[in-house]
Amino acid sequence: MTDASNAAPLAPRAIADVPSWEAEADVVIVGYGCAGASAAIEARQAGADVLVVERATAGGGASAMAGGEIYLGGGTAVQKACGFDDTPEAMYTYLMAATGPGPNQAKVEVYCERSVEHFQWLVDCGVVFKESFYERPCWEPPTDDGLVYTGGENAWPFNQIAQPAPRGHIPQMEKKRPGEKSGGWMLMQHLSATAEAAGARVMPDTRVSQLVVEPDGRVAGVIARQFGAEVALRARRGVVLASGGFMANADMVAQHAPLVAGQMVLGTDGDDGTSIRLGQGLGAAVAHLDAAQTAMPSVPLLVYPSILVNQYGQRFINEDTYCGRSGQAAVFHQQARCSLVLDEKIFESVPEADRWGYRPTWVCETVAELEAEMGLPLRSLQSTVDLYNEHASRGEDPLFHKRAEFLRPLQSPFGAIPLNGLPYAVFTLGGLVTTVDGEVIGPGGEPIAGLYAAGRATSGIPSWGYASGTSLGDGTFFGRRAGRAAASARPRVE
Ligand SMILES: Cc1cc2nc3c(=O)[nH]c(=O)nc-3n(C[C@H](O)[C@H](O)[C@H](O)COP(=O)(O)OP(=O)(O)OC[C@H]3O[C@@H](n4cnc5c(N)ncnc54)[C@H](O)[C@@H]3O)c2cc1C
Repeated sequence: MTDASNAAPLAPRAIADVPSWEAEADVVIVGYGCAGASAAIEARQAGADVLVVERATAGGGASAMAGGEIYLGGGTAVQKACGFDDTPEAMYTYLMAATGPGPNQAKVEVYCERSVEHFQWLVDCGVVFKESFYERPCWEPPTDDGLVYTGGENAWPFNQIAQPAPRGHIPQMEKKRPGEKSGGWMLMQHLSATAEAAGARVMPDTRVSQLVVEPDGRVAGVIARQFGAEVALRARRGVVLASGGFMANADMVAQHAPLVAGQMVLGTDGDDGTSIRLGQGLGAAVAHLDAAQTAMPSVPLLVYPSILVNQYGQRFINEDTYCGRSGQAAVFHQQARCSLVLDEKIFESVPEADRWGYRPTWVCETVAELEAEMGLPLRSLQSTVDLYNEHASRGEDPLFHKRAEFLRPLQSPFGAIPLNGLPYAVFTLGGLVTTVDGEVIGPGGEPIAGLYAAGRATSGIPSWGYASGTSLGDGTFFGRRAGRAAASARPRVE
């Protein structure tokens, strides 16, 4: 049973109903992840007094759990040092093709034009990117290498659309613990140190629940709960909403993104959609709420040379693409009912430590036996493997255009790993509609005065399709712009 009230817009409070303010600042930022921290840095550097309100005892959010891949390109110092030619145009062409349907052209344009500058800004915040390229397929490099392919740029169809270049930039870090303490944690160390050194104040253990509005609709502050008590926090120039997405709000997921309902939350409890609902309470526009990053529950080293088949035993994608892309194809187009079919040689080619515990559920001498064990229709898998093998023996894949380096006929013994019951790790991509300067768009299509947003609370670079790094990338990039815009907004007149 879902409870629609948990997904409903959160109505604002009239300023007349706020008897006093517990604290005030020029810019109040809701959430201290990568978007909030970046907004805080820029707002402070623009001279604003900044207060960051964070529901947890410490900042970091999902950003601090992340692998740390940040989507940057157009010719960064790391790309150049690793021998890759990239241009803003190639990056733009790729992102417009890969982040749709419905890519946000205005955001993609400015993001690509200013990507090298944004790389330098991160470096100036203290983030170190090692000038080395990790070439093996992976979710995130287990090493401290600084550059990796993260979006299938060098796989079909994107290798036909734009000049490929790796654009996943990773903060240097040793002794990573993926999912716990990795490049994202390192990124947040630098961003929060920079924000606080610049003079941003942080108010932890404080959960924002309402916006405060003036009679003309301008946002004037927030209402929050702190250790059971209500506090009112006044924003003289603007409020920046940056509290993340909504995958942890089952009612919102059921309402807006039912195809990912019940899948694993990739994020924190804070991903409960509060920013989106606060904006909606003022009539804010939202976009792509059905979109989600859905990670294929397997390891790329196993997936690329194998075949992914659906419930009819048929392939549905080139397996050598970004596993977030094959994950989306599986969840949104195959009802998450598919399997990875491989052979012993592929399985043994991946060291046990790199298999993350994945092993075949079925192993058979013949494809016919495997097909029967898997409960697939008679001769469905057999024809798929026959066709795949016939073309693979010539280094070709006329159906899905897998690259020759990952093509080899599958040989006995065969195995299959079901990817049906396993949870796909998901975070939502849809959110508030914002301008390139983070202004939240209201019911009439105009910005809502005093209200800004960034990060996964907004619909940003990954409108629908995803490349790893576009969340930390657009969270930091548009977080900066939202912070700067809020800092330069007309102050509230007494
Ligand atoms: C394991 C993992 C790996 C990932 N790897 C990558 C990667 O390599 N590259 C990439 O680009 N993306 C990656 N992502 C996704 C990425 O981390 C997030 O999409 C991104 O960090 C979102 O940033 P944000 O600033 O919008 O939100 P967050 O970083 O989640 O920050 C939001 C903050 O707001 C706080 N908050 C929530 N509600 C309230 C409230 N009501 N009041 C006050 N505070 C509130 C939260 O506690 C949190 O601290 C990964 C995610 C996970 C979980």
